[in-house]
Amino acid sequence: MKYNTKNYDYLIVGSGPYGSIFAYEAAKRGKRSLIIEKRAHIGGNMYTHKENGINVHDFGAHIFHTDNKEVWDYVNQFTEFNGYINQVVANYKGELYNLPFNMNTFYQMWGVKTPGEAAAKIAEQKVTAGISGAPKNLEEQAISLIGTDIYSKLIKGYTEKQWGRKATELPAFIIGRLPVRYTFDNNYFNHRYQGVPVDGYTAIFDKLLASDLIDVQVNTDFMANKETYLSEFPKTIYTGMIDAFFDYKYGELEYRSVRFESEVHESDNVQGNAVINYTDAETPYTRVMEWRHFDNHADDGKSIISKEFPQDWDRSKEAYYPVNDEKNSELFKKYRKESNNLKNVIFGGRLGNYQYYDMDQVFGAALKAVEKEFNE
Ligand code: UDP
Repeated sequence: MKYNTKNYDYLIVGSGPYGSIFAYEAAKRGKRSLIIEKRAHIGGNMYTHKENGINVHDFGAHIFHTDNKEVWDYVNQFTEFNGYINQVVANYKGELYNLPFNMNTFYQMWGVKTPGEAAAKIAEQKVTAGISGAPKNLEEQAISLIGTDIYSKLIKGYTEKQWGRKATELPAFIIGRLPVRYTFDNNYFNHRYQGVPVDGYTAIFDKLLASDLIDVQVNTDFMANKETYLSEFPKTIYTGMIDAFFDYKYGELEYRSVRFESEVHESDNVQGNAVINYTDAETPYTRVMEWRHFDNHADDGKSIISKEFPQDWDRSKEAYYPVNDEKNSELFKKYRKESNNLKNVIFGGRLGNYQYYDMDQVFGAALKAVEKEFNE
């Protein structure tokens, strides 16, 4: 045995939430796991580090939000949340608007003051745009929900930068992530529970992986020795890219990537908000995060901001977003079918399932997998 040196019950590929929760729950039941992680750190894209007393989210803003009480209670075992509520501001060529789309936005855009006036304006723009029937793509979905003015100032530019393709070539469901409400409520999410961990996200993973029954090897690539790993371990939990697992035999699934440029400022408040979106087509970044505002820090006179630049994905970059359009969904089905035939491998997480999951959905899916695995 080259890799399974301790009679491990599980090999877990990837130390993000899916793999780490699985390892934690397995350890609770006396099962031993080896986690191998390609990157130099645990926690996947939830990884955060502390700098100047501020928790910086290395892989973009992560706000935990859920309606799932089981998941909320579960994650609260590992951290305290700070009560942060995400309220994003959009900057379109110097004009500021509240997001998500709500009465504040409608007032700022049109001067309308009542829900009735806002609804009438949107209905009128939808008719003028000639939209009727089921929306076929993101553009039609957006116009039918909030009209052409908001679409062209707050959605089109941002979306086309973010995804690197036309809004008419993107699936409608993506815009459904953002609430549209006829109240003066700037909460970016509709969920009952929301917050950011007081000690950052990495601390959650330190706790999940603390058991003596869990070993973690970072800088370790499963794909380099896949066959040996699979032959030595009774069961594998794989949370990497599903197409990579099968050596891209049906072709490459597409992903979208992002990169960040960070700056430390000698100021305790650079932009006055945790997230500001730049929704025009020309600004090369989509949003700017000021990390201290996620933590309510106001102590040391320094602030760190990160600009988020979308970029094409290739195998040398981190895969952030699956592109769940028709072509990729068809391709994914082929891989999923293949994966279902592998009884000793469980595929999970955003990359293993090729789904645009939020954190709470990954937590929920991991808990389901645990239930199934241990027949509870
Ligand atoms: N979106 C937009 N304008 C914005 C913010 C979001 O058009 O100012 C659209 C865009 O298409 C984006 C989608 O809404 O991909 C989902 O936004 P969300 O903030 O949920 O994206 P994430 O935080 O997952 O990147």
